[in-house]
Parts: sequence; structure tokens; C-alpha cells
Amino acid sequence: MVQQSVPPQNFFILVVDDVALNLKILRAILEPIGYEVSFATSGKQALARIASAKPDIILLDLMMPDMDGLEVCQVIKSDPELAEIPIIFLTASQEKEHLLQAFELGAVDYLTKPFNKLELLARINTHLTLKHYQNCLQKQAEQERLRNKIIYSIRCSLDLNHILQTAVSEICYFLKVDKVTIFNFTNLCQGKFLAESTPTMCQIFIDENIHNLSWIYQNFHFSNSSRFQVIDNINDANISPLHLDFLMSEGVKSEVIVPIYQQEYLWGGLIVHHCQNNHSWSIDEIKLLSELVEQLEVAIQQSQLYQKLDHAYQELQRLAHTDSLTNVANRRQFDQHISQEWLRLKREQKYLSLIMCDVDYFKLYNDCYGHPSGDVCLQKVAKILSESIKRPADLVARYGGEEFAIILPQTNTEGAINVAQQIQQAIDDLKIPHIKSQVKQYITLSMGIATIMPHDNLTTDDLIAAADKELYTAKANGRNQYCQGVILGVRNN
Ligand code: GH3
Ligand code: MG
Ligand code: MG
Repeated sequence: MVQQSVPPQNFFILVVDDVALNLKILRAILEPIGYEVSFATSGKQALARIASAKPDIILLDLMMPDMDGLEVCQVIKSDPELAEIPIIFLTASQEKEHLLQAFELGAVDYLTKPFNKLELLARINTHLTLKHYQNCLQKQAEQERLRNKIIYSIRCSLDLNHILQTAVSEICYFLKVDKVTIFNFTNLCQGKFLAESTPTMCQIFIDENIHNLSWIYQNFHFSNSSRFQVIDNINDANISPLHLDFLMSEGVKSEVIVPIYQQEYLWGGLIVHHCQNNHSWSIDEIKLLSELVEQLEVAIQQSQLYQKLDHAYQELQRLAHTDSLTNVANRRQFDQHISQEWLRLKREQKYLSLIMCDVDYFKLYNDCYGHPSGDVCLQKVAKILSESIKRPADLVARYGGEEFAIILPQTNTEGAINVAQQIQQAIDDLKIPHIKSQVKQYITLSMGIATIMPHDNLTTDDLIAAADKELYTAKANGRNQYCQGVILGVRNN
């Protein structure tokens, strides 16, 4: 940690002594050095002074009427807000036996009257420097905590909104600023605000409006080297009229903007505002913001990658369950769905119906019109079947070749017949020419319907076999028709 020496003007010393002459002597020593000094002549007055402005160090007389130095020390040390202030006791040489108690109460040092100027200044300087280092360390630890918290939230979450919101809330709290926002460029000069935090408002913020942010874009897009825009006081800053308009409309006094890049392109930025007062931004603050933005850049990249992966995975899932020619469910999904519905309806004691459909004389169709036309015909049939089902749990699947299966949960025979009739009508209306068909000059379907209330002694295979048997009957009876059956029996092994 590199630390410059701190000028005395930055330190505020409170001197407490009931003897006016002592105060006069101390004033004569301390003020010419440049320290800011305040005086109190009693314990009560000292506590009142401390309450209105927190000193960096207290020189405290040990012996005072009413409230003595030890009591004052005790009050200060018991207040967590004040306990860190170093206290140096001022004692006459004959009072030394009280010093042990003073140290026990938390005093850091003592000075004996009459004062030796050089010794007094040396000790005050030592304790102020120590306190200063301690403050720096504390601040550094806090910054570390903030960094870790944001990094942790980035590692734990792939939800970009959550990450951005954590970042703005923590920065707002830690830097004690009035507003922190993150925006994303939607196209060159325009952007959306994705997260915002003020000291009183920390909820998820999604502003759908598109804002003209060309002044930020131009600033960072054309000068890749600049990592920030820092404005201590907007009145002294050399900024574009658009930027000034923005700052005025938001009531901003001072601002930092850190651009957020993704690889080469300008993704957006982080804006930090002070609205109450001008603020001279410290190197530490800027360094912290830039470190956090680096973390955010990683988080944004990760979440974008995750989104792409997720889309790819969803697409793979879809492909794994879909028949590529007809776009209805494939055999794999048919198997999964019928098993799942079987178990559900067994629990609920409800009917499950299955319709097996087969295109009539389809071999002749292929022979006559060619295989590619056969494919198109299957696509049209699949579309009609898909349109015939209405409930979310219903499923049309290509069972194989020119055979389709329709799973109808919570549907009795009557309901299933209804669906079959609708399909027959719709295929009829479609009038796909099939001059070689032995039943009609158009494409027709034969259907086998089976209905069951699932129970332990039967399996899905029994239902499929029953529907197949009905389909065979429909074919045998002349095609272009449906046959149905209800399985009532319990399988006897
Ligand atoms: P039936 O009325 O008894 O069902 O007679 P069919 O000719 O329809 O039955 P069969 O099982 O003899 O012939 C089925 C035909 O379906 C044979 C096969 O080439 C054709 N087929 C199966 N899958 C496809 C496909 O993906 N595309 C095309 N174009 N034809 C297919
Ligand atoms: Mg057929
Ligand atoms: Mg067939």
C-alpha cells in the first residue's frame, strides 16, 4: 500500500481541559502546524462537540470537576460509532496512578503537563498517522468485500438482470452515491437502461424506453483508449449539449461513466451520479469502478454464452423428439408420453384412448405419384391430424412409415370416435387425388380406436395392440373407416 503523508489541515483535533491556560498553550502549539482544533472545558461540553463533529483524535484532561476524563473516555469507548477515535490523556505528573485505568479503558497514550512541544507534536502525529493507515486498511477491506460480493454473484448466477442489479445496488451503497445505472446499446447510438439503484430504491428495474445515448457512444466508440469519463462538477466540464441536457434533467452534480465492452464492441456502460453535491472522484473510487466493470464484462459474456447454449440445447431436445419429415412427435416421444399418461391416469382413474391411423393403399400412391409426392402427402396428413387435437396433453406421433398414433388422455370411446370422425371429414375435404386407391379416388385413412382405464394388470403395449387390432379390422372391413374397442379385461398370465 503506497501512502502519501496527509496534510495537517485534514485532521481535526478536540482538546478537552478545564484549565483555560492549558487550552491556550495547546492552541499555540497545534494551530500554527495547521491542524483544525476545537476546545472543550468540561466532559459534557466535549461529548456535545463530538456529537456534532467527529474528531480524528482527542486530547483529554484526566482530572476535571463534575465528569472526569475517565468517565468521558468510558462514554466514548462504549459508542461503536466513536470507539475508534484515539484518545491521548493529559495528566499532571502526580496523577500517574490513574493512567493504568485510562489504558484499560482504551486510551492510546498520555502526555504529561507541562507539555514538551516537540514530544506532544510527535505523539499526535504518530497516532494520527496510525489511525489514517487503519482507516485505509478498513476501506481496502470494504472494497475487497464489495468486489468479492459482486464476483460471487456473477459466479453463482447466469441471470444477467440479477447480476446487474446486485452490481448497481452494491456500488450505490458502498460509494454512497445518489444513483447508479447500467445501460446497454441496442443499436449504435441508442440504448436501454437495464438496472438502476438509488439509496432508497433497489428493486429490479426494467425500462423499456429507448434513449438517445449518442454522446456516450461517440465518446467511447471513437477513443478505445479512454476507459472512463470523470466529471467532478458539471458546470466546469467541457461536455456536449446533449450530455449536459441529460445531466440537467437528472439533477446531476457530478458523474463517472465507465464503458462496458464485449470483445471489440461497445456493449454499454455504468453511470454513477452524485446529485446533492459536486464530488471530486478519488483514484480509489475510479479504480474500484473499473475493476467491477471488468467483472461485469465477464458476467455479460458468460450469460450470453449460456443463453446460446440453452437455445441450442432446447433445439436439440426438440429435434430428438420430432419426426423430421412431418414435424409431429416421433416414436421416442410417443413412448415417453404414453407411459407418462398411463401412470397419471392410473392414479386418477380416468380413461386413456389411442387412435392408430394408417393411409390406405399408400404403396400404390408411391408407385403412382412417386416417393417425393408420397412424402408431401404424409406431411399433409400429419397436419390434419395435428389440427384435430385440442388439449395440451393430446399428442400426434408418427408411429412408423405411413402410420400415425394419437394419444388422447382423459378421453372415453365416445370422445375418441368424435376425433376420428373429424379426421375422416378433414381428410375427405382435403381431396388428395389417389387414382389407384381401391376405395375412393382420393386419399383415405383407416383407424383403430382403443380405450382403457389403466390398471396394474395391463400395460401400454396392451392398449397399442388393441388399437392395432381395431385398425386391422377396419382394413379388413373395406378401409376408409374406424373401428373401436374398449379393453375391459384383466390380463391372465
Ligand atoms: P394398406 O391400405 O393395407 O395400408 O396398404 P399400404 O400400401 O398403405 O400398406 P403397405 O404397408 O403395404 O405399404 C406402406 C407404404 O408406405 C410402403 C412404403 O414405401 C410407404 N412409406 C412408408 N414410409 C414412407 C415415407 O416416409 N415416405 C413415403 N413416400 N412413403 C413411405
Ligand atoms: Mg397403409
Ligand atoms: Mg402400413
